[in-house]
Amino acid sequence: MSLKERIAHIEQRVKEACERSGRSIEEVHIVAVTKYVSLDTTRSVLDEGISHIGENRPQNALPKWEALGGRGTWHFIGHLQSNKVKDVIGRFQYIHSLDRLSLARELEKRAAAKGTQVLAFLQVNISGESSKQGIQPHEAAAFLKETAGLPHVKIIGLMTMAPIVDDPEQTRPVFRALRELRDDLNAQGLSKEPLKELSMGMSDDFEIAIEEGATWVRLGTLLVGKGEET
Ligand SMILES: *Cc1c(COP(=O)(O)O)cnc(C)c1O
Repeated sequence: MSLKERIAHIEQRVKEACERSGRSIEEVHIVAVTKYVSLDTTRSVLDEGISHIGENRPQNALPKWEALGGRGTWHFIGHLQSNKVKDVIGRFQYIHSLDRLSLARELEKRAAAKGTQVLAFLQVNISGESSKQGIQPHEAAAFLKETAGLPHVKIIGLMTMAPIVDDPEQTRPVFRALRELRDDLNAQGLSKEPLKELSMGMSDDFEIAIEEGATWVRLGTLLVGKGEET
């Protein structure tokens, strides 16, 4: 399958998941995760009309960003070390992996210095696996209170990673719990504006995530393959 065909196929599956759950397709955005693939493939993704690019390592992403002249909208999706924040701010508009207060403060400092604002998802470890990053669900309310006053960091929603399972259906409770947490936080009115976004769902489980309310799905393997041979 060509990249164009793969994109068309994925878009069809997104549409069907929206239909099944009575959602509007406009609410669901695809982030093309290009961490496995080359600059050329990343450029092809942009050429095919997918404008959201996801990367998880600054050292791999920055050369691509430079070569592409910052084309597209860039999403940082991996664990972000505080000493890398200065490289990410001004290039990545979205951070999906805000997982600690010290990172929020560093993002604030660097975004303020550059006169820009960064949009962030609070990463929550719903599954409770020790291998996963993210704050615990019960810590989310306090986190939002602590960060509500940061003018250059805007938390727009929540992000989670589901466990790796044999049957994607098993991920549903994790995605549902993230949506319920978001709705619960919004009911408490803790952030400046209600949290609208849910970043959840990857190649194996994005349809379930959409059925449970995902507004951003992060697709690597299915969209661009795992390496250059695909
Ligand atoms: C790699 C990665 C993805 C994409 O995973 P695929 O299964 O290849 O679609 C999504 N989100 C995060 C945080 C990732 O690190």
